[in-house]
Amino acid sequence: MLEPREIVEHVGRALGTDAAYGGRRVLVTAGPTREAIDPVRYVGNRSSGRMGYAVAQAAWRRGADVTLVSGPSSLEPPVGVDLVRVQSAEEMLEAVKGTIGEADLTVFAAAVADFRPLAAEAEKVKRESVGDAVDFTLSANPDIAAGTRDLRKSGAVTVGFALETSDVIENAKKKLEKKGFDFLVANDVTEEGAGFDVETNRVTVLAPGADPEALPLMSKHAVGEEILDRAARLLGASG
Ligand code: C5P
Repeated sequence: MLEPREIVEHVGRALGTDAAYGGRRVLVTAGPTREAIDPVRYVGNRSSGRMGYAVAQAAWRRGADVTLVSGPSSLEPPVGVDLVRVQSAEEMLEAVKGTIGEADLTVFAAAVADFRPLAAEAEKVKRESVGDAVDFTLSANPDIAAGTRDLRKSGAVTVGFALETSDVIENAKKKLEKKGFDFLVANDVTEEGAGFDVETNRVTVLAPGADPEALPLMSKHAVGEEILDRAARLLGASG
């Protein structure tokens, strides 16, 4: 039997198909990545996956075929969405490589760990064997958005996120260009109502050649809808 939320989503999709998304393919990355230290420990971050899951669900409700590549998250899988679960940034990269060529819209909402332990230990590291301090060598993870630029379908729309704790606009502008996003959704995780463990977000939208646009405090669901509205205008423009 279908759960109430499944019924709601199916009815939403049946009634509300958005012409911009019917038959379109949407790829979303979400959640944190976990970079193994040993078989039981990892380097990670506090991302819940909420923002990416909200975008994925909203895109499916609008009629798209949606693939959600998600790092570990305790959220319910979005209804109707093809969920690909991964752990590390390298696994996320492989999953994105396999799907981005078909995507009309890609939303990079994952909080990918920037670094990973150079080599994961095969056995659990014992407390006694390391003494009072542990030295780690970390190596940089691949940049998934930048590293898959050449694989994007022609005319595809690509959206990124930037979570900052200072110089939000300046840092976000650099990411917009370096990673080749059509627009970027930036937020300051130190602001009340924004960031990892809350249902709301206060974001600024940046696009090439346009002034930054600060949006009011909104639920992550509303931010998801806003992203899809903006992307729909660009999809329409690209045919
Ligand atoms: O982590 P950072 O602030 O650089 O992330 C900005 C954007 O780039 C986000 O959209 C994020 O999903 C993406 N990203 C990525 N691969 C990484 C780091 C970030 O795709 N290794």
